[in-house]
Amino acid sequence: MSIDHPDRTSRLSAAERPKFLVSFEFFPPRTDAMEERFWESMGKLAPLHPRFVSVTYGAGGSTRERTLRMVSRIKAETGIDAAAHLTCVGASREEVDAVVRGYQAAGINRIVALRGDPAEGIGQPFTPHPAGYRNAADLVAGIRRIGAFDVSVAAYPEKHPQSPHWQADIDKLKAKLDAGATRSITQMFFDNDDYFRFVDRARAAGIAAPIVPGIQPIHSFRQISGFAARCGASIPSWVAERFDGLDDDPETHALVASAVAAEQVLELVDNGITEFHFYTLNRANLVLALARLLGARPN
Ligand code: FAD
Repeated sequence: MSIDHPDRTSRLSAAERPKFLVSFEFFPPRTDAMEERFWESMGKLAPLHPRFVSVTYGAGGSTRERTLRMVSRIKAETGIDAAAHLTCVGASREEVDAVVRGYQAAGINRIVALRGDPAEGIGQPFTPHPAGYRNAADLVAGIRRIGAFDVSVAAYPEKHPQSPHWQADIDKLKAKLDAGATRSITQMFFDNDDYFRFVDRARAAGIAAPIVPGIQPIHSFRQISGFAARCGASIPSWVAERFDGLDDDPETHALVASAVAAEQVLELVDNGITEFHFYTLNRANLVLALARLLGARPN
């Protein structure tokens, strides 16, 4: 029997394959115990030379000080570029601009610029603050007026839940990039075909900027399926079936999670993707293994 493999980038040696760029997303810890885990995970992931690590911004600016504190410490203590997320929910332009200037003063030159969601959740219509930025594109323009930040924005392989149709979704993405963003990072997705179709749509609309896949390893199927439902990402039945019955079997769950994420990442690699953003949820292990598959090694 002969197997005719197409060229697989994932099977090339380090010398032959392209260099992969990875970034890791964290959230600002709320308690001392969570902060300990944050730094423990950072200690494992920082030596892998990520392009940057990012720290999210809580709904309505609830983590404003903590996000700034964490990105400043990451930069100072690990030397890695840190990106601060920022939303424009419930804040005036002046207030948001003050946060941007705070990042600037702390030497942070990367921002992930987002509209954010109303406090009631993504299902509710977004009403801008009367004196605030109206959407993410408006926010990107405001940030770029303040300084030469490297700005990333959000993209939605399954369409943003509030978007009436694909054209509106792609138009909004284009507006954010035209306003001065460098790249987009996608919402979590679990079927690579959704991502490939989305990239085709974006390229057909003249979007040339990188569309970096946001990879969410399924540390806990129950928790991630809850997150996915809240942000409008679907979990295909074939993925759900792989975790079926594993709630009380953490060891097998972890092995399946690793296999599922590895399959997703390597399929992207074999289709020419070279940049990845990993949602860590402040846990290192699965992401560490995935970055290793991409050739990342500690010093
Ligand atoms: P926008 O780009 O302004 O709009 C999003 C979409 O809504 C558009 O693509 C469009 O389809 C639709 N839309 C909006 N307005 C209209 C309109 N008037 N007409 C038609 N369609 C419209 N949230 C946080 O609170 N903190 C974070 O740190 C955070 N980090 C994130 C990181 C990434 C990588 C991603 C993908 C999301 C993140 N989010 C975060 C979630 C984000 O705030 C929500 O998804 C929010 O609902 C939309 O933000 P946006 O920046 O994409 O908004």
